[in-house]
Amino acid sequence: MTAREHERALDLIMRRGTEEIAMPDSAWLNSHLGECSECATFAADFDSTGRLLQAVAITASPSLVLATQARLRARSAQLQERQSRTVLIAISFCIGAMSSTMSAWLWWRFGGWVAQRLALSPSIVEPGVFVAWMLPAVAIAVAMLASSHPVIDRSLTMRVLGQYQEGGRQ
Ligand SMILES: [Zn+2]
Repeated sequence: MTAREHERALDLIMRRGTEEIAMPDSAWLNSHLGECSECATFAADFDSTGRLLQAVAITASPSLVLATQARLRARSAQLQERQSRTVLIAISFCIGAMSSTMSAWLWWRFGGWVAQRLALSPSIVEPGVFVAWMLPAVAIAVAMLASSHPVIDRSLTMRVLGQYQEGGRQ
């Protein structure tokens, strides 16, 4: 007996529970199972596993089915939430990087003038660039930390993301 024959036998064993098998295939399988104890054992195990699964499906009460469905829905909502949070964090990061660059540029461009107008020391201009660059990123980081609080986490994320998606469609 070749490995190919065992493979064909296993394929037929797995298919015969769920679909119609041609008569020649069925006859061939029966003769193979008569000669090959390995495949015959597999067939017996496979069939009893199938019966076991059917028995479980029949005895599952409606409340168990409902509970399982509810768990699955909760799980998928959880996954969706995690995904939307990742998108939100990516968006926040982009906004943070852009606003940081913008404010740093503004300070670099006008900081000297502001320092002059307010009679501040010119030595404040250079560190000011750093502060102006960091400030939006820090503000957004604080906002993100606050929004990750479990109580307002989901609704806030969904709301912000919903607004973002609505804004994108308009
Ligand atoms: Zn075999």
